[in-house]
Amino acid sequence: MQRCKNCLTKLKWKEVFFSILLGYKSIECNKCNAKYYLPYRYRLIFASIFTLPIFLADYIYKLYNTASFVISIFVMWFIIWPLIAPFFLRYHQKFYLTPNSF
Ligand SMILES: [Zn+2]
Repeated sequence: MQRCKNCLTKLKWKEVFFSILLGYKSIECNKCNAKYYLPYRYRLIFASIFTLPIFLADYIYKLYNTASFVISIFVMWFIIWPLIAPFFLRYHQKFYLTPNSF
């Protein structure tokens, strides 16, 4: 799992998972409260991989020629990908501009 850039605390799988589930909600480091958000390119990558089997449906169907096989692949993928995605997605730190930063 990704670590916080400030204090090297690991971001929890659970937090990243629910962040994705709740529409890419930003997450906070438990130790130093640094805020993290998922950049748009990673949201796009997540969504593209999530919908990948839909585009491969024809190819998957040709493997066994049964619709139930295609459906089980779909169901498995729609469950498995969100479960493993937190290991691949990279959150970026959110900085706030304060009067002192000028
Ligand atoms: Zn931290």
